[in-house]
Amino acid sequence: MDLGLQGKKAIVCAASKGLGRACAISLAREGVELVITARTASTLEETAEDIRRLTGARVTPVAGDIGTEEGRAAALAACPAPDILVNNNGGPPYGDFRDWDRDTWIKAIDGNMLAPIFLIRAVIDGMIERKFGRIVNITSGSVKSPIPELGMSNGARAGLTGFVAGLARQVARHNVVINNLLPGPFLTDRLRGGLEKAARESNRSVDEVIQERTAKTPAGRVGDPAEFGDACAFLCSARIGFIVGQNLLLDGGAFNSAST
Ligand code: NAP
Repeated sequence: MDLGLQGKKAIVCAASKGLGRACAISLAREGVELVITARTASTLEETAEDIRRLTGARVTPVAGDIGTEEGRAAALAACPAPDILVNNNGGPPYGDFRDWDRDTWIKAIDGNMLAPIFLIRAVIDGMIERKFGRIVNITSGSVKSPIPELGMSNGARAGLTGFVAGLARQVARHNVVINNLLPGPFLTDRLRGGLEKAARESNRSVDEVIQERTAKTPAGRVGDPAEFGDACAFLCSARIGFIVGQNLLLDGGAFNSAST
């Protein structure tokens, strides 16, 4: 299926590694011109070069913290009129909510709720004028099934989800569609770090920990970031203008529900 994305322009946030990188690669394969962001310039430049080599796409790396006004302004300066926006960021830390003061909460809300909202605000009127826009927010399976020790992530992402549910329905008639992708466990650096810690603490291999954790998951495995990237490209497709305000869970069937 031709996704109809040849020559479109995208900003993919937090894309030097993991899920963001996978989304950038899948979009580049469809002929999308990219601006990718991350804080560490060297890793970002390497990723940009990898994507150019793999796909031949034009890729502009813009280093910066997407949780800040300056980081967002730099990305927007490099791509002022994107057709596609993929919102992503690092996740808030694990912990006990008793230890989190106001500043800690504000940082999580800035990063995982307000950063995507301000980027959407900056690009949406142009998308409406051009009668084409695709916005995908990478959130988390925790939006549907909260992870107790990730309370800041549960809270900030729920705020984004609620806001987007309303906005998506205000702009859909202009062929501007907003949807969210909810990752379950995908084998990125972030997940691998957690698995390696658990393996060290229980004196087992990472593979054993993965097997234990996925034994009850219908798919029986963790996700491959490339699968996530392809789902993102699909949700950015010119053909999906009738899929509006959805929360698509990619978790190998772990969330047990007759209608997710
Ligand atoms: P990852 O492998 O650690 O990659 C994170 C990427 O984001 C890196 O490119 C990182 O580069 C960039 N980044 C982090 N903070 C940033 C910031 N403030 N501004 C710009 N770029 C930033 O993480 P991942 O597993 O792909 O996770 C992506 C998102 O999905 C996170 O919010 C995570 O909580 C969520 N999620 C992941 C999973 C999973 O299984 N992987 C499951 C549920 C939810 P720099 O460090 O150089 O900035």
